[in-house]
Amino acid sequence: VRKQRLLVVANRLPVSATRKSEDSWALEISVGGLVSALLGINEFEARWIGWAGVNVPDEIGQRSLTKALAEKRCIPVFLDEETVHQYYNGYCNNILWPLFHYLGLPQEDRLATTRSFQSQFASYKNANQMFADVVNEHYKEGDVVWCHDYHLMFLPRCLKEYNSKMKVGWFLHTPFPSSEIHRTLPSRSELLRSVLAADLVGFHTYDYARHFVSACTRILGLEGTPDGVEDQGKLTRVAAFPIGIDSDRFVRALELPQVKDHMKELKERFAGRMVMLGVDRLDMIKGIPQKILAFEKFLEENPIWRDKVVLVQIAVPTRTDVPEYQKLSSQVHEIVGRINGRFGSLTTVPIHHLVRSRPSTLTDDRSLDFHALCALYAVTDVALVTSLRDGMNLVSYEFVACQASKKGVLILSEFAGAAQSLGAGAILVNPWNVTEVAASIGYALTMPADEREKRHRHNFTHVTTHTSQEWAETFVSELNDTVVEAQLRT
Ligand code: UDP
Repeated sequence: VRKQRLLVVANRLPVSATRKSEDSWALEISVGGLVSALLGINEFEARWIGWAGVNVPDEIGQRSLTKALAEKRCIPVFLDEETVHQYYNGYCNNILWPLFHYLGLPQEDRLATTRSFQSQFASYKNANQMFADVVNEHYKEGDVVWCHDYHLMFLPRCLKEYNSKMKVGWFLHTPFPSSEIHRTLPSRSELLRSVLAADLVGFHTYDYARHFVSACTRILGLEGTPDGVEDQGKLTRVAAFPIGIDSDRFVRALELPQVKDHMKELKERFAGRMVMLGVDRLDMIKGIPQKILAFEKFLEENPIWRDKVVLVQIAVPTRTDVPEYQKLSSQVHEIVGRINGRFGSLTTVPIHHLVRSRPSTLTDDRSLDFHALCALYAVTDVALVTSLRDGMNLVSYEFVACQASKKGVLILSEFAGAAQSLGAGAILVNPWNVTEVAASIGYALTMPADEREKRHRHNFTHVTTHTSQEWAETFVSELNDTVVEAQLRT
């Protein structure tokens, strides 16, 4: 039997390309959440469609890159520099990203934003059309098309205009905000309508799905049903599909000699101290300053802990060319410096702030070596996730997967999607409430073993049973079912 083909469309391909000569390329696969989710699926034959992260203006380059990528089952969409600037940096990352995380529309220079808004939105639609062209070119009857994230909200409509029979799903990896936030967006209605062209629309949590349905009822005046949104008899199914991780990959890694060696080194380095860990991209949404200030308050109020605990904060730089991100980075450095000056001694400091630097302007930087990260997760006593908003937060899942022997405590922001699934095992906090977070740190560090074990068991069961493979399979089979049901109705 031939497997059903799955066309996965995302802004970025899971491969980074570097040009070696006029017609040769070096490709590097990046194993993010989505990639590992789909690697584990055998039911479908997956193809990736997306941008390779490089500007390739010439035909020889485009042809040779297309050929090289084909071996990795990837199909490139070529975006020119101006499009990357307006669509990707502009509309996606300066408008949609902050808005969907409740940071509002850009505040600085409002008038300039208003003026550039139209051209950025035009570029966004144009870029989405370019993705649609490539999908359409490769589409064969019976394929399923799965569109990903806020970069491609216009894609479902473009695809259905090409072919109304195409099976189209769309999944959002960020939060979908309250309709009161979404309605501030000048292009609010057009975006909602384009997403509704899909057969199935998915979110990480029930709350995000509910926000989306409310936005459609309040802004578009459509009817919300328990299954989704109805427009003149046509139903778009809306549901929650919480993503997971490939937990086995982490569990297996802990058995490797190099990871064990690394754990031993870390244990020696932090001997006599409890280890607290944060792993975040240097993004406003992660609440890194809030986390560090809460840790400071804890040390301030609990002098006996000052030389008995260390906070290891791994910061992964992103968008290093954007002034707001540069400001965040220096702010974090400043606070860390001040606290280390205040509570450190000649030989030790309470905060180890490690910036993984391999700065790149266009791509998300995922730089801490996987094995080193696993070792760090495994030796940690308390993980601290204080996102102000976060679609899911996979770091919290990865920490849990690596804690089978230590059974450490997870302090988790209630504003991370993961709070919906790990809420019963984690200590949930409001990251804005520094007093509450400081108290939770104390609670976590002194938690009795039986409570730690109980909480860990809850989380571990969830993380190992709700994997990324299961997530992807559920979404795609639900998409197939939705289309069949719609055909039965008409
Ligand atoms: N990560 C990484 N290298 C690092 C630090 C983190 O590859 O140096 C990975 C981490 O393992 C996790 C991802 O980056 O899979 C972060 O995902 P999360 O959902 O927590 O946040 P996001 O960065 O997607 O907002």
